[in-house]
Amino acid sequence: MESTTARHLLEPDDGLAAWLAAHGQAAWRAKAIRRWLFAGRVMAFADMTDLPAAVRAELETDFTIWTTSIATHHRADDGTEKLLLELADGHRIECVLLRDGDRRTVCISSQVGCAMGCVFCASGIDGVVRNLTTGEIVEQLLRLARLLPPHERLSHIVVMGMGEPLANLDRLLPALALAQHPEGLGISQRRITISTVGLPPAMDRLTAENPGYHLAVSLHAADDELRTRLVPVNKAIGVEAVMAAADRYWEASGRRLTFEYVLLGEVNDSPEHARRLARLIGGRAALLNVIPYNPVAGMPWKEPTNDARERFIGVLESAGINVQIRRRKGARINAACGQLRRLAARATSDRPPAGHSPVTQAKQPKSSTAASTTPRMPPSHTAQ
Ligand code: SAH
Repeated sequence: MESTTARHLLEPDDGLAAWLAAHGQAAWRAKAIRRWLFAGRVMAFADMTDLPAAVRAELETDFTIWTTSIATHHRADDGTEKLLLELADGHRIECVLLRDGDRRTVCISSQVGCAMGCVFCASGIDGVVRNLTTGEIVEQLLRLARLLPPHERLSHIVVMGMGEPLANLDRLLPALALAQHPEGLGISQRRITISTVGLPPAMDRLTAENPGYHLAVSLHAADDELRTRLVPVNKAIGVEAVMAAADRYWEASGRRLTFEYVLLGEVNDSPEHARRLARLIGGRAALLNVIPYNPVAGMPWKEPTNDARERFIGVLESAGINVQIRRRKGARINAACGQLRRLAARATSDRPPAGHSPVTQAKQPKSSTAASTTPRMPPSHTAQ
């Protein structure tokens, strides 16, 4: 079975099993190949040394492992690394590795751009271009895993990069299944967080099909007037419907929900906003993740003052809400969603944005042995 178009090995329907059968190879070789990729973190078939050399060469012809290349790689002082990946069609996405104690968390993108239009977010400024494929999502995981030394493993995944994950569930769920698989990355479902702007039909689909993920719902305001201003997609949905869908997910999963609230100076950070928020989420087994706004160049929003932030949290805590302030990681390397991509798009030279320490500027080969040197740096994002 010869093919002229190389198939992407990281797609669910890669055809590898049929290929092996057609080439007289044992079926277990498919597992071995996946083990090389996920546990062995090799870049190329050539490095899969227990495969016969002739088979490796044929696989190299018929299959593509990597469709992305590393456009930039930044590393922050706190160990956060951020990759800007270029896709086969030239679009760019971001993904981040966060180091926190024993945790090795990756933050991945689900779409090129975003259609939700949250007014403070860099990812949606140009709208959505397209969904990522399953293979492109898996490639982010593998490329970030390769940044770790061999004795370290990825422990957590947060789908909080570019895009709205619940608008691309068909491609995201198979990627996350592979992340969980013992022959994949072996990351338990409980350590995978999906962050959504709050799309009730898709939340209900997840409730029905697979409520084991940790769900984070981005609220940013407790009333429809303000939420629709900040999160335009709310206009057709409404806070009440989002909360009802979140409750249904919680009932099915039994796992504590997270609500996210980006604190924008003088916009949604008053004690009255906090009181409304406490009324909205009170009584639930939930964590409130307060995220101080991470400034995006050219946007009019401000970070909250320390006083405003403390007052806001104080009101919620005295109302019995379980609040966590999200520590910012890698802020100097432009943490917030979509920031690095925009900077790269605007850049007229190779100079990195101030405060960054670019490690790899050159594009890497899309496959093959030349790429087997591990990329060595990069990054940033707000940490969970
Ligand atoms: N579409 C998903 C994932 C987005 S990114 C969602 O809406 O949840 C994850 C979180 O980062 C969201 O809560 C998002 O609102 C927030 N975010 C986006 N831009 C930000 C910025 N500039 N500063 C702080 N948080 C930001």
